[in-house]
Amino acid sequence: MKLKEIYSDKNSKPVISFEVFPPNGDFENLIHEIKILSDYNPEFISITYSANGKGGKSFELLQKIKALGINVMPHFTCITSSKESIKSALIKIEQAGVKNVLALRGDVPDFEINRSFDFYFANELVQFIKTHTNLSIGVAGYPEGHIESPDLYSDIKNLKKKVAAGADAIFTQLFFDNKKYFDYVDILRNEGINLPVIPGIMPIISKKQITKMTSLAKITVSDIIKEKIEKYKDEPQSLQNFGIDYATKQCIELIEKGVPGLHFFTLNKSYSTSKILDNIKGELWKT
Ligand code: FAD
Repeated sequence: MKLKEIYSDKNSKPVISFEVFPPNGDFENLIHEIKILSDYNPEFISITYSANGKGGKSFELLQKIKALGINVMPHFTCITSSKESIKSALIKIEQAGVKNVLALRGDVPDFEINRSFDFYFANELVQFIKTHTNLSIGVAGYPEGHIESPDLYSDIKNLKKKVAAGADAIFTQLFFDNKKYFDYVDILRNEGINLPVIPGIMPIISKKQITKMTSLAKITVSDIIKEKIEKYKDEPQSLQNFGIDYATKQCIELIEKGVPGLHFFTLNKSYSTSKILDNIKGELWKT
């Protein structure tokens, strides 16, 4: 199914999807984790794409996940890729039966900063995919604004360009404060953007993970989260349990307010995501 159809039924329960990334080593552990997650009937699994244009491993992973009978949504970053390489990769994935992609710019690698590129922004990639394929297109949205944007409104102005180019759904950056998501959706609606906005959920697993994420993106981390990270700095299981409880509460409120889906950034581990899904099973069933 294409993204438009997947998120079209307003009365059904939220669509569950997962994100994974191609591992450095072999695929064995990840496939094991994905088999556990497959018990939760994800609509699809999305696969990240390296911004250095080397997507070979992503395609290998895509084939392995498809072989398990699970739909996939590959990500595509364009900043360092040529039009030709993107076009041949798109043909390859369409031939493999893929229906949806997440179109991204990617981060500009420092050593490439002065190069000239075929694509500079994700809206150009969306336009390119729309012109050359029948794929349905997801794009990234940032409830707290993109890190390079001076403010949220400038970023939303640019999001509109991705929507105008043909995006079908918006997948958000992770957030720990649901109000940021709800306010964001309200602003998008006021700005005339009516696409489904799928919240991205990342369970807190470690201090290192949070430090890395907050260095890469604008994400507010509340004092409560900071306190727990400090309190459990030598107790990884306690921190993970806190992360599961926290994300469970986030998901319950999101479901109650009628989100179209929940997209889990699994970090290639099934444990926290599956516990959260066990916790919200009743809520999902109710809707
Ligand atoms: P864009 O939409 O192009 O925006 C980038 C910046 O430029 C923003 O500040 C925007 O406001 C501004 N801008 C956009 N268009 C214009 C324009 N026409 N003119 C002027 N300014 C403009 N990264 C990866 O490398 N691989 C992945 O697989 C990956 N998956 C992701 C999944 C999700 C759900 C999210 C939220 C992010 C993901 N990222 C991934 C990170 C993403 O690549 C970075 O955040 C990147 O810096 C921006 O990508 P974008 O597609 O949002 O870019």
